Amino acid sequence: MGWLKNTISEIFSSLGTPKSEGPRRPSPPHTPETVILPRDKHPISRRNIDPDALKVLYRLLNHGYKAYLVGGSVRDLLLSRKPKDFDVATDASPKDIRRLFANSVIIGRRFKIVHIRFRNNKIIEVTTFRKKGEEDESRPGLPTMRDNTFGTPKEDAFRRDLTINGLFYSVKDYTIIDYVGGLEDLENKIIRMIGDPRTRITEDPVRIIRAIRHAARIGFTIDPEIRQAVGELRHNLTHCSPARFHEELVKELKGGYSRETLRLFKEYGILEVLFPEMHKAVDEKAVIAESFYSCLGLLDAMTRSGREFSIPFLFSVPMIPVVTALIRTQVRESESKPDIPRLIGVFLTQALSRVGVSKRTIDSMRHLLFLNWKMLEMFEHGHISSSLRHKAYFSEAFDLLAIATKASGAFPGAPWPPGPDGFEPLKRFIHAPRKKRRRGPRGKRDNIAAAD
Ligand code: ATP
Ligand code: MG
Repeated sequence: MGWLKNTISEIFSSLGTPKSEGPRRPSPPHTPETVILPRDKHPISRRNIDPDALKVLYRLLNHGYKAYLVGGSVRDLLLSRKPKDFDVATDASPKDIRRLFANSVIIGRRFKIVHIRFRNNKIIEVTTFRKKGEEDESRPGLPTMRDNTFGTPKEDAFRRDLTINGLFYSVKDYTIIDYVGGLEDLENKIIRMIGDPRTRITEDPVRIIRAIRHAARIGFTIDPEIRQAVGELRHNLTHCSPARFHEELVKELKGGYSRETLRLFKEYGILEVLFPEMHKAVDEKAVIAESFYSCLGLLDAMTRSGREFSIPFLFSVPMIPVVTALIRTQVRESESKPDIPRLIGVFLTQALSRVGVSKRTIDSMRHLLFLNWKMLEMFEHGHISSSLRHKAYFSEAFDLLAIATKASGAFPGAPWPPGPDGFEPLKRFIHAPRKKRRRGPRGKRDNIAAAD
């Protein structure tokens, strides 16, 4: 980031704008000066840009259109991070784009975006510059728009969410174009919304979640104006489509920074709005809170080491401590044998009702968490029956058990994250079902109750 510090200081002195030394100036509404950084003032090289994204950019340019790399990829390249995806914005209409790329499909009904498909399921998303207020129906839940009018590059930058997500990179002259003050905020390590946070959150409350995710991911401070707006408007999240939360939450859980994101969710009152049951448990019981954050931290270590998990697994990880506590209480307090799978199912349906998790996912989670519980019980008796290996969810439940036992401190010195073949220290506990002591000439095997 040293390059940025020098560059930004130069830019601000040349613009005659004094750069604040102490605490940051309050958030806009302000319209920053447009800054254009030439190639020798920034570190983005075409070598770091996906070759297929370059192909798309050059083909658009060669046909006379404007085309820029936009959004998260420019932000990540400036932060020397590997971008997850490369998005392109252009003045070509969706139909024009479709004509130029045989491997493309148009998605969205009103505001159309184009997905250009490449090998290995890679998609380069191309959008036509649009104005603020134009919403994207391919992301369900956003307000419906009336028009399908397009905008200029500058208007397109201003309709984006965060200043650090509003930067453009041009392959025509290798410049970075900053209409929204994103470079300054990158240098100051601050997450700010483009425009007034109250207005932007009212337009689309999911921006709260995005601001928190980006802060957690790159360790930036959240602008106090966003904090205040979130405090006032966080309950608006309940008006959003659960499908959009689902999309964003999967990104959190897969992304390697779920522990910090959920910690911030708690701090900003978002856990309370989206997961009231989880919030209550984490708020009231320090041991549950500790285990909840440990489980997420362990998941992060696994995803950062390259492991990929199913959606039911991802949503099960933060549920381990509260589901385990719930089962323990039921077992202790019920007079008859509790129906544990049912208990888990009812709890999950309630706890996940606001975040668009499908019935099918909940059903898989129920199996996974029940098997995890069975194994946890067996583990506590020092013996996990190898007959469970044949269960449909065994391998994922075993990974879940690795997280549960490591989070509880059962294996303090064991290496983490486990390799793709699982958690070695735990494997020592898997044995063939024990033989029952023979009482007479024909003894029977002790059948350890297998999970459903
Ligand atoms: P990631 O690294 O998670 O992909 P990203 O910032 O690229 O982060 P995307 O969901 O890929 O996130 O969105 C691409 C871009 O679209 C963002 O950088 C931002 O400019 C814009 N964007 C996405 N969601 C919104 C929103 N709700 N409101 C305004 N702009 C948005
Ligand atoms: Mg992206």
